[in-house]
Amino acid sequence: MSFCASAQSVFQQKVNHKINVELDTNQKKLLGSIKTTYINNSPDTLSFIYYHLWPNAYKDTETSYAKQQILLQNANFYFSKSEYKVSIECVNIQVNSVESELKEAFSGIDDIKLLPLPEDLFPGDTIIISMDFSVSIPVLTSRMGWRNNDFCLTQWYPKPAVYDQYGWHPMSYLDMGEFYSEFGDFEVSISLPDNYIVAASGDLTSRKELHRLEDYAELCKSSKYKENIRAYGDSTKMKTVNYVCTNVHDFAWFTSPDFVVEMEPFFISSQDKYVRCWAFYNKENADLWDDATKYIGQTVNMMSYEVGSYPYNNCSAVDAPLGAGGGMEYPTITVVTAIDKYSLERVIAHEVIHNWFYGMLASNERNNSWIDEGFTSFYESKYFDRYYPNLGMISELIGKDVNIHGLNEISGRFSKELAWSYFISENIDQPAGLNSEEMSPLNYFILSYYKPVVAIYSLEKYLGEELFRKNMNSFYNIYHHTHIYPEDLRSFNLHGVQDISWFFDDFILENNYPDYKICGIKKDSLIVKNKGESLSPLFLNIGDSSVIVDGFEGSRSYAINNEKEFSIDPDFRTLDLNRRNNYFRKGFLKCRRPVKLSLFNIVDNPKYFQIPIAPIVTYNSTDGWSPGIMFYTSPLPKKKFEFQLLPVWGTKTNMLNGYANFSVFIHPAGKTLREIEPFVSGRKFGLDDETGSYFYKVSSGLKIKFQTDVHKNLESELLVRNISASDYYFDTLKNYQQIKYRYADYNPINPWSIDLDIQNGIGFTKMSAEYKQFISYNKRIGLSIRIFAGKFLYSSDEYYGNYNFRLYGNTGSQDYFYDHLFLGRNEDIRTSPQNIWAHQFIRNDGGFTLYSPY
Ligand SMILES: [Zn+2]
Repeated sequence: MSFCASAQSVFQQKVNHKINVELDTNQKKLLGSIKTTYINNSPDTLSFIYYHLWPNAYKDTETSYAKQQILLQNANFYFSKSEYKVSIECVNIQVNSVESELKEAFSGIDDIKLLPLPEDLFPGDTIIISMDFSVSIPVLTSRMGWRNNDFCLTQWYPKPAVYDQYGWHPMSYLDMGEFYSEFGDFEVSISLPDNYIVAASGDLTSRKELHRLEDYAELCKSSKYKENIRAYGDSTKMKTVNYVCTNVHDFAWFTSPDFVVEMEPFFISSQDKYVRCWAFYNKENADLWDDATKYIGQTVNMMSYEVGSYPYNNCSAVDAPLGAGGGMEYPTITVVTAIDKYSLERVIAHEVIHNWFYGMLASNERNNSWIDEGFTSFYESKYFDRYYPNLGMISELIGKDVNIHGLNEISGRFSKELAWSYFISENIDQPAGLNSEEMSPLNYFILSYYKPVVAIYSLEKYLGEELFRKNMNSFYNIYHHTHIYPEDLRSFNLHGVQDISWFFDDFILENNYPDYKICGIKKDSLIVKNKGESLSPLFLNIGDSSVIVDGFEGSRSYAINNEKEFSIDPDFRTLDLNRRNNYFRKGFLKCRRPVKLSLFNIVDNPKYFQIPIAPIVTYNSTDGWSPGIMFYTSPLPKKKFEFQLLPVWGTKTNMLNGYANFSVFIHPAGKTLREIEPFVSGRKFGLDDETGSYFYKVSSGLKIKFQTDVHKNLESELLVRNISASDYYFDTLKNYQQIKYRYADYNPINPWSIDLDIQNGIGFTKMSAEYKQFISYNKRIGLSIRIFAGKFLYSSDEYYGNYNFRLYGNTGSQDYFYDHLFLGRNEDIRTSPQNIWAHQFIRNDGGFTLYSPY
C-alpha cells in the first residue's frame, strides 16, 4: 500500500500595492495610479497574469454580475439607468517599465483581463506592474457606489487574480459568491475634499488627519445631539490622507462629509493589547449605533481567544445604505446596514468575525462558501451564546422574546436545521461543498450560512469545547494569512485522536442525512437505530447523563437502570432529519413525547407530540357564515404524509360541510422526477339553502413535479386525476378524468407559462392550451399576453352546454370540477346582474370577466 500525498506544493504569491487615488465627488469618479509588486513564490514560470477589473461588472446587462441578478429574480440592475452602468479604464500599463496591454481573457467578459508579461516571470522573481486607472462610480449597487454624499469604494482598483497550487483563479465579480485574493501590503494615498471623513482598511498614517479624526470622535462622544456636529466643515479644498495595511488581501474605503465617528480602544485580554474600534455612521442612525464600538471590541476579544490573535491595530464598522439589512466584510473594515439594534449587533459581530474566516484564513469563497460563511456564522452564534446565553429560537430570528408553542425554549440552531431539512423534504437539496455557482440561490444561503453552523456545532460537541478550541488555535497558528482549502481543514483535529471524516464526507461533500431513532426498551437496554445515511456521532441522553458515541450502522443497545426519559440530541447540537423519533419515555400508556394541542401551529416543536388545530370561519352565500375547526399536519417540517381536515357548520343550511385532503410525498432518486404526490381530496358545500341541496366532489390522483434547472425559477408539473362530482344542473354524480401539465419560467424580465389540459367526461373529451407571457418594457411597464385555444376531440348526445368553452371566464355553476372557491355559486349574471356574487369569474377559457353570450 502506498500513500499518495498531495502532489502540489503549497505556496503563497505576494502582491503589494501602492495606490494614489483622487476622488472627484462632483463627477463621481476615481482617478488613480497603481504600482503592483508581484512576487512569484510559486515553483512555476508565469508568462501572463490574470487581472480583475471588477468595476466593469457594472458595465452593462451582459456582465456575469448582471446575468446573476436576473437569476436571483432581481431586475433592478437590468432596468437601471445609465448612472448605474459604469466601468474602469486602465492606461499607461508598464511591466518592469516595458509597455504592455491588458488583453481579452475570455470572450465577452470585461471584468477579467489578461496581462501578457514581456518576459517570463521565473520562480522567486519579482516584477513591478504600473498603470493609471479611472473608475466612474455607480449609484450604490451591490456593495459599491455613491448615494447622497456617501461613497462605498470596494472592488475599485485593478487587481491580479490568485495563482495557487491549483493554478489561476480568474473570476467575474458576482453578488452571490464572493472573493479570492492574494495577500500583500497596501500603501494607499487618497486625495479628496477636506470636509470628507474617510473610513478605510488598515492604519491612517497621516498624523494631522489622525489627530483631527480622534478629536472629532471625542467630540461626537460628548455631544448629546449628534445632528449638530459637523467638525469637518464645508471646506472643498483638497487633502491627501495616507493609509497602510499590511498582510491583507484587499483594501476598501468609505467616505462621507456627514459621518458621526466613535472610537473606543478595547482591551484584548488574550493578546494583552488594545485594538482601536471605530464606528462611522450617519446621524439619523445615532441611537442605533450607540454601542457599535462595544460590539466590535467584544467580537475581536472573543475571536482572539477562540481562534487566534488579531494582528491589526484598528477594526472599523461603517454604516452604509447597502439595502434592507446586511453587511459586507473587508480587511479590518466592514460595511453594515441594520434595521434595529439587535440586527446591528448580529451583523457587526458576523462581519468582524470575517477578519478571521476570509481575512486571515483566506479560503476561496467562490468555491467553498461553507468555510468562510459557515465558520463565521458559527462564531456569530457563539458570540450570542456568550453574551446572550439561552437566546431562544424566536428571539434569535426576530430579536424579540416571544414564546410560541414553546419554540423560544429551544435553540436557534433548530431553525437552521429546519431550513436545511426543508430542502431535503422538497427533494431540491444540494451538498454544501459545491461551487457557489452550481447552487441554487436559496441553497447557497442555506448551505453557506445555516447547515455548516449546526454541522460545526456537532464537531465542537463531539470533540469537546476545549479540544475544539485548542485545535482551532493550532489550525490558526499554522494557516493564518494563507489560502486554506477543505483538505487543510481535514487536519483540523490536530490534538485529538477522533475520526472527524463524517463531518466532511456526510455533512459537507455529500448531503448524507443523519437520523438516529430510539426504537424502545428491550429488557434492560435502550435500543437505538441509525435510520439515516450518515455516520455522524450519536449524542444520547439516558436520564440525566449523556453519552457521545461514534457513528455506527444498524442498531446498538445501551444499558439502563431506573431512568425514565431518553432522548437524542435534545439541545440541538447536531443535524437530525427526523426529530420525532428522538424521544422515549418509559411507563405504561406513555407517549414518546408529551401530547399537546397546538393552536394555529405552523412549526413543530420536536419536544412535543403536537396536535395542531385552528378554529376557522368560512363563508358562502348559500351556507352563510360557517364556523369550524381545522385539523392538520403543520407545514414545517414537511412530512411524508400530510392532511388537512376542515369540517364546518353552515348556519343557513344547518349542514355539516367541509374540505379534506390527504397527501403522501414520494421522492424518487434520479434527476427527472422531483416529487410524486398521490392524493385524495374532497369538499362538500350547500347549493340551495331552501331545498337543502348540496354538492360534493372527491378527487384522487397524482401530482408529479419534475426536476428543473436549479439556476432558474422554473416549474414543471403534471396532474393526473379522477373527479367524481355532483352535476350542478342534473341530480346525478358525474365522473371525469383530467390530465394537466404546466411549465412556467418565472424570470423577472419576461416570465411566461404554458398550461395544457385534457378533460374527459360522459359524452365529451376536450383539450385546451393556455400561453401567458409578460414582456417588460421597463421596471414598471410591460405588455401582458394571454392566448387560449380549446378543441373538442369528441362529443356525444350526453354532452351538454355546461362543458362548453366560453369567451368569458366561468362562473360558479360552470365550475363543474368544483375546484374554485366561490362566495356565491348559484348567482347567475344572466338573470341577476345586480347580485354582487354573480360577478365572480374564474380566469379560464376566454378570460373576460364580463358576461358574453358566447
Ligand atoms: Zn458573511
